This record gives sequence, structure tokens and C-alpha cells, in this order.
Amino acid sequence: MDFSLTPEQETFRARFRAWVADNIPAEWRLTASGGDLPRPDAYELLRKWQRKLYDNGFIGLTWPKESGGAGLTFMEEMILQQEMALAKAPPILNVLGVGMAGPTIIAWGTDEQKRRYPPKILSCEEIWCQGYSEPNSGSDLASLQTRAVKDGDHFVVNGQKVWTSVAHVADWMMLLARTDPDAPKHKGITYFLLDMHAPGVTVKPLKQITGDDEFNEVFFDNVRVHESQILGGLNNGWQVGLTTLMYERLALGFGLQVRLRIALDNVIDMARRMEKDGRVITKSPVMRQKLAQLWIDTECLRLTGARAITRLLRGELPGPEASAGKMGWVETHQKLQELAMEIQGPYAQLAKGSDRAVDGGLWHYTFLRSRANSIEGGTTEIQKNIIGERVLGLPKG
Ligand SMILES: Cc1cc2nc3c(=O)[nH]c(=O)nc-3n(C[C@H](O)[C@H](O)[C@H](O)COP(=O)(O)OP(=O)(O)OC[C@H]3O[C@@H](n4cnc5c(N)ncnc54)[C@H](O)[C@@H]3O)c2cc1C
Repeated sequence: MDFSLTPEQETFRARFRAWVADNIPAEWRLTASGGDLPRPDAYELLRKWQRKLYDNGFIGLTWPKESGGAGLTFMEEMILQQEMALAKAPPILNVLGVGMAGPTIIAWGTDEQKRRYPPKILSCEEIWCQGYSEPNSGSDLASLQTRAVKDGDHFVVNGQKVWTSVAHVADWMMLLARTDPDAPKHKGITYFLLDMHAPGVTVKPLKQITGDDEFNEVFFDNVRVHESQILGGLNNGWQVGLTTLMYERLALGFGLQVRLRIALDNVIDMARRMEKDGRVITKSPVMRQKLAQLWIDTECLRLTGARAITRLLRGELPGPEASAGKMGWVETHQKLQELAMEIQGPYAQLAKGSDRAVDGGLWHYTFLRSRANSIEGGTTEIQKNIIGERVLGLPKG
């Protein structure tokens, strides 16, 4: 990849750098974690932050103008992400909308769908969730059982989803439902844009190890969806759904590197403040080595992400190699959170609410949250299968 910037891109960098320095919300500076996805207690702050990015044209850079984007390239997106990391800027709230639903609608939607949904995703007026996993269908997604049965110009949906992140605040769902039970399992699925406020949708929060209710069970009881809400054609949901998954892995592998970089800077900062046996942690050669290794891994991920961008700059969709970025991010982030625990020693056990918890218990929280990284967005074992079979061309397991 050629990293040299055009004069216009240099100007863009300078403009965004100045803007972000002046506009990060003051409340965020006090609680900045940088390590992870939005936390429920910060939802409102992040909603306003995303709106501010939108009002100033700093979100959806690569999306077409008619879909509310800026019509720029992934080079500008990469510059923006790098500057976000340097400034330790907050994440956005509508992560699934911007990272997955929007790009999938732009790739597969009708003109009307492309005009209707993406702008409200970017402005954070409408939050999106992803209705893929079911109680008996996770890694083997094609076995999903939620049914959508045609009734005039509507479909009637019955069934259940689970682990649905942010469903409790979502306005829309990317729903995969079975529309032809007699077809081979990959061929009888349809992708719907489902209104979460429709009668018959019930959302029940599930508590995670962190104590937050970040994900949910979602039940459908005779939910009526108009056929115009199908994305990408009847019984074509598997292909459309894969596009979402590729973008999800791209967002996890590439976008979350920014948060990884912020978390790394914060770990180093924390290590400089902590002592063991009367010696500052960063004076220990072993700890220095571990921190340096994390820095190297983070840089490698950034550069691997740049390879994926080269592909996008050529106008191609993200491919199966996005799985390598996702897997690399998971391993590095979990290693980072484990090191943060080690640096704190016994203090690592203290959670938010304890006077002596390091950084207000932030690391305790982010360590627990990071355990989910190797499950969400497809488990590490599944990513390895994809890399083995679809990138390296190895025989099927
Ligand atoms: C924090 C979090 C947020 C999530 N958010 C969402 C969301 O918003 N929407 C959504 O739809 N889902 C969401 N999920 C669900 C997630 O996508 C699934 O948990 C994941 O795909 C695994 O499915 P499963 O839990 O059914 O496990 P299973 O598929 O039952 O897997 C169990 C174990 O078997 C292994 N395994 C399974 N098949 C194979 C194979 N072929 N080869 C090797 N090993 C295999 C897996 O790696 C895993 O270790 C979320 C999960 C988490 C943890």
C-alpha cells in the first residue's frame, strides 16, 4: 500500500485533527477507557458525539453522498481512524449500524432503501442491531429456525434470537429468517430490515459477566413485515448476510484497532504509575519486553489492516482475509487486558466502587469484557476454519 498522502488528504488530516482536539466531550476525557465498545452508562454521551461527527461530515466518509456519506475513499477513513486514536476520541454509539447494516444496505439495497436508511444510521437517529444467532444456531448460522411466512404482501415472523447486542435500544434489526423450509438450508433464508417497534417484538435483556445488560433475547410473535423490507431478494439472505459478516470482521479487525491503540497507550500510562517491590513497573525488563511486544503486535495489525484497505481502494468488497484481522485483534486485545491485570497485581481484583480500584475499576471491567471478543462476531475457531479453507485453500475439516 502507498501511504503517501495527496495535498487534499493532508488538509483533511489537519482539519480533522484540529476539530477533534476542540470537540471531544469533556465528560469523556474524565472517564476515557478507549479499550472497548460503548458501555450502557455512556450511551447518551456517545449518541450526541456521533451526531456531532455527522453534523460536521466526519462519519460515513466512504459512503455515497446520496446515502448521507461523504463519497471519499478508504484513505480518508484510515486518516480519520488514526487521528481518533491519537486524540483518544470516544467510539460511536451506532456501531452495528455504521459498521454493518449501512454498508450491507448500500451493497444490496433498492434505491429507496439506500436513500431511506443510511443517513439515519450515520446521524444516530436510528440504532441497529443484528438478529442472526439463535439458541440452537450460532457458528452453524445456516441452521437458523426463525420463520417468516408469506401472507399477502407481508411476511409473518415467529421465532427467537439471542445474544442480540443493543436490541434494547435498537430501532431496526438486520434479521435473518427462514422463508423456504424445503430448500437446502443456505438457500431458504431471507434478510429483512425489521422494525424493532413493531407489535409482537419482545426484548429481554441478559446480564453479562461485566454486570452490564449489553445483549438480549428477542422474541417474535406474529410480527408482520412488509415485503418491501426484504434486502437483496427473497431467499437470497445467505449471500446478503455474508456481506454483513465480512463488514463485521472488517470493522472488528480494522476499526477496533483504533481502540486497541488507545488501550495500549493507557496500559503504558498505567504501568508508569504502578509500583512493584518499590520499583516503577516500567523499570522491570520483563514488563518492558511485554509492553514492547504488544506495541509490535498492534503495529502489525495496523499494517495488515492497510492491506485490506488496498483491496477496498480497488473497489472490492472485504474478503475472507478479514477473518485474519479479526483473529489478530482478538488475540492482541485479550493479551493486553491480561497484562493490565498482571501490572496491577492484587489491585486487579478491585472493581468500580472500591476506593482503591486502579483507574476507577476500568481495567477490571475491560478485562472481563474482553473475554467475549473471541466469541462475538464469529468465534476464533470459526475464523481459523475460514482462513484455512478460503484463504489458504486447505481441504475442509
Ligand atoms: C458479547 C457478544 C455479543 C454478541 N452479539 C451478537 C449480536 O448482536 N447478534 C448476533 O446475532 N449474535 C451475537 N453474538 C453471538 C455470537 O455471534 C455467537 O455466540 C457465536 O457466533 C458462537 O455461536 P454460539 O454461541 O451458538 O456457539 P456454538 O456455535 O455452539 O459454538 C460452541 C463452541 O464450539 C466451537 N465450534 C462450533 N463449530 C465449530 C467448527 N465447525 N469447528 C471448530 N469449532 C467449532 C465454537 O468455536 C465454540 O467454541 C454475540 C456474542 C457475544 C459473546
